[in-house]
This record gives sequence, C-alpha cells and structure tokens, in this order.
Amino acid sequence: MDKKLIYTDNAATTRVAAEVLEAMLPYFRNEYGNASALYSLGQGSADALKTARAQVAKVLNADAAEIVFTGSGTEADNMALIGVMNSPVAKGKKHLITTVIEHPAMLRTAERLEKQGFSVTYLPVDGDGLISLSQLEEAICDDTALVSIMFANNEIGTIQPIAEIGALCKSKGVLFHTDAVQAFGAVPIDVKAMNIDLLSLSAHKINGPKGVGALYLKKGIALRPVVFGGGQERGLRGGTENIPGIVGLGHAAQLRADNLEEYSQKMTALRDRLIDGVLTAIPKVQLTGHKDKRLPAIASFVIEAIEGESLLLMLDMAGICASTGSACSTGSLDPSHVLMGIGLKHEVAHGSLRLSLGGYNTVEEIDYIIETLPGIVTKLRAMSPVWNG
Ligand code: PLP
Repeated sequence: MDKKLIYTDNAATTRVAAEVLEAMLPYFRNEYGNASALYSLGQGSADALKTARAQVAKVLNADAAEIVFTGSGTEADNMALIGVMNSPVAKGKKHLITTVIEHPAMLRTAERLEKQGFSVTYLPVDGDGLISLSQLEEAICDDTALVSIMFANNEIGTIQPIAEIGALCKSKGVLFHTDAVQAFGAVPIDVKAMNIDLLSLSAHKINGPKGVGALYLKKGIALRPVVFGGGQERGLRGGTENIPGIVGLGHAAQLRADNLEEYSQKMTALRDRLIDGVLTAIPKVQLTGHKDKRLPAIASFVIEAIEGESLLLMLDMAGICASTGSACSTGSLDPSHVLMGIGLKHEVAHGSLRLSLGGYNTVEEIDYIIETLPGIVTKLRAMSPVWNG
C-alpha cells in the first residue's frame, strides 16, 4: 500500500508491536515443543506459559494461578457466563444481571442462557452510557448468581463504576464478572481492590496478536469448563496451548503496564485534541459517551444527517480508517444497540463515527483528520435529503 494510512480503529484491533512480534518469533521457529511434553523442548514452552501467566496476572494484581488462557476475549466471556451459571458455584441460582450495551460476545451468550431456562436482567444505561448502582441493587435478588457488567464500552468508551459495582456484589454475596477487553492495558485495573471475581481480556486490542485472550478467575471459584479436552489450563480449557500467541499476550500486557501512565497521557491528549477539533469544526455534531469517564483512546460522535457507512468510505479514500457503530456488526445496517441504549434515535445513531486511537498515532494525524472531516461531512450533507442546516 503506497498511500499513507491513518489508522484510527484501534478499538477494533491493533497492529502487533515490533517487540511483541520479536518475543513471539522464537516460539514459531525453535521453541515449538508441546508444553505438556516431558523433554526439554517442551519445557521451553511450559516456561514461556508460566512467564506469560505471571505477566498478565501482574497487570491485574492477580496471582498467576488465577489466569486461564483462552482463544479470544469472546471465548473468555462465554466461559465466564456459561461456566458460572452451570457450576455448583451458582448454588442452583438461575438469574444473571448484565447491561443492554454489552459486546455481542456477552449478549449472544446471555440470550443462549435464556433459551436454556436461565433468567437475565438487562440493565439500562443513561445518556452517557452509565448504569445506575441503585437499579443494580434493586435488580439483585435471592436467585441472582452473577452480575456481569463491562468495564468500558467499545463504541462510546464509557467506563463503569467498577469498584462500586464490585463492592455492591460482594456485599450481596453475588459473583461479579467484567468484560475488560477494552479496558485491559488502557486503564489501571486491580481485581482485588475492585472486588472482581472474573474478568475477560484479549491480546489484539493492546498491540498483541489476534486469537488469544484470558479469563481471570478468582481463586476458589470452581468453574465448569466450556471447552473440554486434554486437561490444559487446569482442565478449564482443553486444547494445545497457543504458545506464540500467549507469549505475545504476556509481552503486550507487560509493555502496556510498564508504560500505562505515558500511554494514558498521550492518548488522552490526542483524543481531547480530536474531540475539541471535531466539535469546533463541524456544526450539529455530538460527542457520545461520558465526557470524562471514558477510555483515553476513544473519540466517538454522532453527526447529524450523515450516513455512517458513506462517511467511512469517504474517510477511507482520504486514507483514514475509522468505524461506525461496532466493527463486529459490520455488514448489518441495524443501528448500534449501544447508541440505541443511550437513547439516541435510529436516524441519529446511523450517523455515528468512532475514532479509536493508538500508540502509533501522531498529532499531525489528528490535525489531518480535523482538517479533512469537515469537507467530507459538508459533501455528504449536500447530498442528504434530511439535511436542512
Ligand atoms: N468484548 C469487548 C468489549 C470487545 O470490544 C471485544 C472485541 O471487539 C470483545 C469482547 C471480543 O474480543 P475478541 O475479539 O478477542 O474475541
């Protein structure tokens, strides 16, 4: 590709960091042994697994033994929900509480559980995307086994009051899972201080490889497995371990943890420059998600009288990769359930734009977006039958 690409879709996926790739390569080339093997080649893989487990655990203030590697964030979400609801740890309780703005990995799993006879409460969110703690408290009943509320939203970036939710769940004797796929490596997470019992994460959102994730599972929670097999991951997730991928996850996690403050400051500055620039340069644009309680790297908007898909195509022609609604639902013309969840009308939700930044973005790129976007919006609005501005 000749043309310079400005990549602002890091909430969808990220480029693998050079250091991460370097760390992974030996496990494709030389250290390819099966971690369960008794000869020394296998030992190299087993050691790598151990190191990565410790690296991931450290970011969460967890113990290495509490990390279960999975094939994705989606799998970790499935494992948490299906695993808890079907385990003795649920004590026969059949009620799950989640929110209307979860990722499809959660929502489709919750729907599946409903079909199997479990009951699910989907908490609403306010206009900023925040749940209400009092509504959560009211929803918890004697039959509630698990509360699962995402740490931060992938479309609008809103961060939930996780420590307060954790404390409430603990006081009610209910397990608490959080989908932290967007938050892991982006904001500080302390599973002990936040009273989190289970947490899902994924490597490819933090400059790690695709197809590898993990579930933090607090010591003592006996989960029923979802993937059965050869006893790997303490019998919780069968299948020969993806050692290069897991090494990549461990390195990516450590890189972020070592530079979290710096990452957060850089992203916040770029994000706020972008948000201010867009809101100033284009009339009838609204920021979506909470103004302050938001991920450092997500800028998200709805732009009146604009069709998100057309906007993306024109941005692509200008060399800018962005997204509208959720990348995972691309191909569907339904308005995003998250934007509907925060109370936007269909026609407004269709004009959504998410620019999610990453460590490789520069101030010059942000300024180029701020210069380019208004012209595209003007062109599209000129063609729009609903624009009367
Ligand atoms: N949960 C959230 C909040 C996400 O943003 C994503 C990915 O977009 C997932 C879960 C799924 O993660 P993975 O792509 O690793 O399956």
